[in-house]
Amino acid sequence: MTILTVEQALEELLSKIKRLGSESVYLSEAVGRVLAKDVVADISLPSFDNSAVDGYAVIASDTANASPNHASVLQQIETIYAGANPEKKITNGFTSKIMTGAPLPEGANAVVMLEDSTESENNLIEIHTQVQAGQGVRKEGEDIQLASTPLCEGTLLHAGEIGILAALGQPKVNVVRRPRVAVVSTGDEVVEISQGVIPPKGKIRNSNRYLLSALTLQTGAALQSARHLPDELEPTMRGLKQCVESGADVIVVAGGVSVGEKDYVRPALEKLGKLDIWKVNMKPGKPIAIGSIGDTLFFGLPGNPVSAQVTWELFVRPALLKMMGRSNSQRMQVEALLESNISHSQGRTEYVRGKVRWRNGSFHVVPTGEQGSGMMHSLQDMNCLIVIPADETNVEKGSTVTVMILGDYL
Ligand code: AMP
Ligand code: MG
Repeated sequence: MTILTVEQALEELLSKIKRLGSESVYLSEAVGRVLAKDVVADISLPSFDNSAVDGYAVIASDTANASPNHASVLQQIETIYAGANPEKKITNGFTSKIMTGAPLPEGANAVVMLEDSTESENNLIEIHTQVQAGQGVRKEGEDIQLASTPLCEGTLLHAGEIGILAALGQPKVNVVRRPRVAVVSTGDEVVEISQGVIPPKGKIRNSNRYLLSALTLQTGAALQSARHLPDELEPTMRGLKQCVESGADVIVVAGGVSVGEKDYVRPALEKLGKLDIWKVNMKPGKPIAIGSIGDTLFFGLPGNPVSAQVTWELFVRPALLKMMGRSNSQRMQVEALLESNISHSQGRTEYVRGKVRWRNGSFHVVPTGEQGSGMMHSLQDMNCLIVIPADETNVEKGSTVTVMILGDYL
């Protein structure tokens, strides 16, 4: 199998992924989800002509001669509050005081702001400015028209869209369901933190179980299960089968995927399903196995937590987002000024964990300490990956580099 570039591997991976089915969820739980169905407006917005300001509802022509030095004087006949209905019609020479959002009274076609008026005795109102017809008024349907489709299938629901859906009277919405992810850590050297012991020499704590579970939730997917498998073929196959049988859409394994003598993940995948991508030209994370078991998508990530997180970012996250119906899974990339040297030898595209900040009109980036793939502290405070192209040599302080901003960490 040839070694692919990150772009080639991602393209091949995404070409096989389809959007999952839908489910109905309460609007209060729909943020971050993707609409699975068009939403049609059951009313116009606004649904009635109303005032855009606190002021006086008028017939615009009654203000034709008004100016700061010369007031037009109108007689107030009513006060209309938001939520109430006007009872009196406006005719020439008359006005009603009106609050923002209150229905415009019949006959009026403009609203003068309170700041451009003065109340005088006997309910007489002095208007100090000329207004045009329509000024200070929100017309029925000017925002959203009855029976139009303001939100289409495929829309990502941010807070703004949630607000619109509430205005459209949708207590529940149809969204693409979350992929169910089965997390699998591997290795005979790994002990569970629930044992509450200092690992004996030769053993390490299970970081990946928690790291991958957290990444699952952070990506917006559902955590189906988290299990640990020993470095043996039969139990590895059994464990992976159980993940499939429990209905996982995606299995993400960390470790055991390389060419070590006890790396059984790839052989197990090849026996149970099929391997599509193996080895991507990147650092960290060269050995990565992507394939499927039946309809379940399979990722075998490197065991080093750092490599696992970087390969999750580059492959697992885009795949999960596509399943969730997101049309764009790319991270934002910007140019940044490098604040320290990075040593890099030609050959593989390198993803250096970094911290990027906007300062004095440009982005500045610094690597988060030592970058060995065993250096877990490089994950702390990381908010970007600095992308060093494969054909690049050492990159010097002061150079411009491309950084991939990890939005969740800003
Ligand atoms: P592997 O890919 O299985 O060869 O593992 C690569 C490195 O990652 C080794 O140093 C492992 O000890 C380490 N590693 C594997 N699994 C875990 C885990 N669950 N938690 C922390 N480190 C791990
Ligand atoms: Mg291992």
